[in-house]
Amino acid sequence: MSGFVFGEKPIEVAGGDGVHVYGADGTEYLDFGASYACTPVGHCHPAVVDAVQSQAGDLLYVQGSYPTETRTALYDRLAALGPGDCANVWLCNSGTEANEAALKFARHATGRETVVAAKRAFHGRTLGALAATWKSEYREGFAVPEHVEFVDFGDPGALREAVDDETAAVLLEPIQGEGGVHPAPTGYLQTAREVCDETGAALVLDEIQTGLGRTGSLWACQRAGVEPDALTVAKGLGSGLPVAATLVADWLAEDAGNHGSTFSGGPVPCAAALATLDVLEDEELAANAADVGQYLQSELVDLPVRDVRGEGLMVGVEVKRGATRALRGLALEHRVLALPAGRTVVRLLPPLTVTEHEADQVVDALEAVL
Ligand SMILES: *Cc1c(COP(=O)(O)O)cnc(C)c1O
Repeated sequence: MSGFVFGEKPIEVAGGDGVHVYGADGTEYLDFGASYACTPVGHCHPAVVDAVQSQAGDLLYVQGSYPTETRTALYDRLAALGPGDCANVWLCNSGTEANEAALKFARHATGRETVVAAKRAFHGRTLGALAATWKSEYREGFAVPEHVEFVDFGDPGALREAVDDETAAVLLEPIQGEGGVHPAPTGYLQTAREVCDETGAALVLDEIQTGLGRTGSLWACQRAGVEPDALTVAKGLGSGLPVAATLVADWLAEDAGNHGSTFSGGPVPCAAALATLDVLEDEELAANAADVGQYLQSELVDLPVRDVRGEGLMVGVEVKRGATRALRGLALEHRVLALPAGRTVVRLLPPLTVTEHEADQVVDALEAVL
């Protein structure tokens, strides 16, 4: 239905290794998009590949009613990593499902219907998550349910006004990704926490893009000093295998109702997630994201661009003459892959293993195409 066409022909990708992918014709690309942050530890990290191959040989699948060592280990691991009280784990297969679950749990526990979300937000494409996704382009023609109230992202007054005792959940990205890489202003997430405490609504943070160390700590909400009632993680969790999670506080888990999914917690994606979490920790990749991210931003601000935003290795560069043109130049002339975030923003979400030298290569390439 859609895809990147950088020139006459799309780039067919045949392999990946660390921060590089390889075209079918053997061309090497520096991957600073990481396929939407899905490869935080790099492409084909040997520890992840080994874990997947070994698990596939032991057991490909068994229904969720039988506990497996791998799923139990991932439950324990994520429970320990959940911020604050978010120690109850629901596993699923994609980001949108993780958000659906969070919203279902919030509705069930509160007995309320309304969700407050932010303009420019992206939370997924199944109907519940889509209802909280802002852009009309994603919504048009789907008769999207209308229980979501949208507020300006970053405006604490608007949030206070919108959230009341009929609100089941406030759903926010700590840094809006798809919407143009907009970090929440200082104090905004605290306000969201306060408003939820005052009204009994659940604070749900969508860390599907910001999570897993990308912003310099495991979760972006830790940097803001805010503990949500539910946090969703997907994208990089399985290094590209379909696994996602909703981490929820006790009060949501205790009254979670009946929710389920056939492939939830399958052995192979769980093995990939455990190995990915191990590598993130062993190689101290959140710290690398903080260091290289800061370096990258400090170099980018010297380019002739409108704005540089983000935290760690989630960076948006607002360019003057359109993102598509810049992205095409980067890919075809400089063999650097990046992502758009709207029409004017070049988004960089590289693997968290990148070095300052690789950051320099991307800055030089951007300078050349701008
Ligand atoms: C990608 C993304 C989603 C949706 O995830 P899918 O796995 O594509 O369903 C939701 N929220 C955010 C912030 C995302 O970046």
